[in-house]
Amino acid sequence: MQNFTFHNPTRILFGQGRIADIAQEIPQGAKVLITYGGGSVKKTGTLEEVRGALTGLTLFEFGGIEPNPTFETLMQAVELARRESVDFLLAVGGGSVIDGTKFIAAAVPFDGEPWDILARHAPIESALPLGTVLTLPATGSEMNCGSVVTRRATQDKLFFTHPAVFPRFSVLDPTKTFTLPPRQVANGIVDAYVHTIEQYLTYPADAKVQDRFAEGLLLTLIEEGPKALADPENYAVRANIMWTATLALNGLIGAGVPQDWATHMLGHELTALHGLDHAQTLAIVLPAMLQVRREQKRDKLLQYAERVWNLGDGDPDARIDAAISHTRDFFESLGVGTRLGGYGIGADAIPALLDKLEQHGMTALGEHQDVGIERSRAVYALAL
Ligand code: NAP
Ligand code: FE
Repeated sequence: MQNFTFHNPTRILFGQGRIADIAQEIPQGAKVLITYGGGSVKKTGTLEEVRGALTGLTLFEFGGIEPNPTFETLMQAVELARRESVDFLLAVGGGSVIDGTKFIAAAVPFDGEPWDILARHAPIESALPLGTVLTLPATGSEMNCGSVVTRRATQDKLFFTHPAVFPRFSVLDPTKTFTLPPRQVANGIVDAYVHTIEQYLTYPADAKVQDRFAEGLLLTLIEEGPKALADPENYAVRANIMWTATLALNGLIGAGVPQDWATHMLGHELTALHGLDHAQTLAIVLPAMLQVRREQKRDKLLQYAERVWNLGDGDPDARIDAAISHTRDFFESLGVGTRLGGYGIGADAIPALLDKLEQHGMTALGEHQDVGIERSRAVYALAL
């Protein structure tokens, strides 16, 4: 096991009705800016419930944060927060609203060009405190310090991480996910699955408990995912999916182990240039990525085949092939297509994707930093 520091300061308020408890998590007298997306939280009544839980505080609202939140939109919220001297942010929504709110939190006190937080990883000294009410289990953003933001004008989708943007608290009420459209339920399952894989399917590091945790998360997604689609108001199923997605990217399974993230980086370029949902890009890239890097990942692919897909016998190469195709079939069974062609993207799109990777310095990806432009080209080509 590698050396690590693990500290996750986010307080989780889990279960039905927990929005009622948020006032005690926010400093008395705070001026709170509630942020949300395209309006689902208005339709579902969640925004009203949040307002009702915060009587007595000064509230401002900023809606319209889009999926794959844009710098352009978020800067309007930064201006509002500065103008009104807001001192607490409350994100109500999915990963996009939460990521966007983390950026707002960092940008408000930032002295300089806020885009540099993403483009140059400019050092952040402080951030406004934030909390979240999660409505879409997927990203883990509710319990991590990462954020991904897109600049619409230049089609750059970039990330930053900083401990100052860990949410102070997050409400995880599984009933808030009942209204999700099937496409978003499936996306969430795929995103959580791939987060787990990016931290698990690398090379052995004698991290037995991290491996077992990761395998438990994958098995839970495989077992409960289809039920979440078939029976949308099954509380137990949604509760398990919700907590699994949080645990998949809150630092726990990634502590002390090598991490990959190449699938995410290739996926970000697909969203930036072609507008695909984040999880769609992962479902496309991951099977091809595993195939292209099967030698480097051989030991863990065999462990994955055996412990997750029950493929313990027979020719090792055939088992690896079967594990990769089971992974693809799982994504397809949820309704998430795994081929570029299925989204109308052909081989002619690959050069521009590679240019973007190069421009973003994404030329030494993966746990061995050996995924350069040529390997990325092979992955995109295999994903056609
Ligand atoms: P999302 O973009 O936040 O939301 C997708 C859609 O779902 C939106 O149209 C939203 O509508 C709708 N929605 C959300 N909750 C709903 C509910 N309860 N009922 C009905 N509709 C609902 O999706 P996401 O997958 O959570 O976030 C994706 C973003 O997170 C991407 O930008 C991705 O790159 C990023 N990401 C971040 C991390 C991280 O660690 N920070 C990790 C992976 C991915 P409204 O807009 O109307 O609310
Ligand atoms: Fe993700």
